[in-house]
Amino acid sequence: IFQVEHARKWMKATNERIQEKKQELTELDQAIGDGDHGINMARGFREVMTKLDGETYQHVADVMKDVAMTLMSKVGGAAGPLYGTAFLKLSMAFKGQDVDYPLFTKGMEDAVAGVKQRGKSEVGEKTLVDVWSAVLEKLQENDHFDGSLMLDTAKAAMENTKETMATKGRAAYLKERSIGHLDPGSVSSFYLFESLAGVIR
Ligand code: ADP
Ligand code: MG
Ligand code: MG
Repeated sequence: IFQVEHARKWMKATNERIQEKKQELTELDQAIGDGDHGINMARGFREVMTKLDGETYQHVADVMKDVAMTLMSKVGGAAGPLYGTAFLKLSMAFKGQDVDYPLFTKGMEDAVAGVKQRGKSEVGEKTLVDVWSAVLEKLQENDHFDGSLMLDTAKAAMENTKETMATKGRAAYLKERSIGHLDPGSVSSFYLFESLAGVIR
């Protein structure tokens, strides 16, 4: 069962990773975007920690809701509403319930569908959808949490964005010239799932 303590640890680990990698994320976004992804994500997750540290929670859904609201209002750019939507969908799916593996998977289904709808994006467009969808697919194929599988899956999907051409987001303006660069949002999503993998392992 995925509990409030797990959700807190997930966000804490993600925040640490994002703060460490702020410069890297910014440089990746400088190459094919406008160079603010590290700044946006570092600001958002710092605020998430401030929010969570000041609250007590009964349900994982309530944690996810505060994460969603904070990311939506503090990250900005394209990524803020997309990450916000993902966590809002998790919150809605989990509402009032204990989060077991099937429910976590259901939440991820709703999250990925929500992000795709919000971004009008599909897998293979060199966005964070690539990483979220790959993780979802593995969750659907399995019946129990497997941290190392989640880590490997997210990493492979993130690395794969280097070879693809962007057709959504700012990088799409570069067309073929976006090839050869990692997608910044896929890299931040990798840190999110790397952190989750460490918590559920
Ligand atoms: P902005 O591009 O507004 O500066 P960020 O730099 O914070 O926003 O985030 C950029 C990331 O957002 C991209 O690397 C990509 O992963 C993701 N992204 C951008 N547009 C879309 C979209 N339409 N659908 C899904 N993800 C997107
Ligand atoms: Mg940017
Ligand atoms: Mg921007």
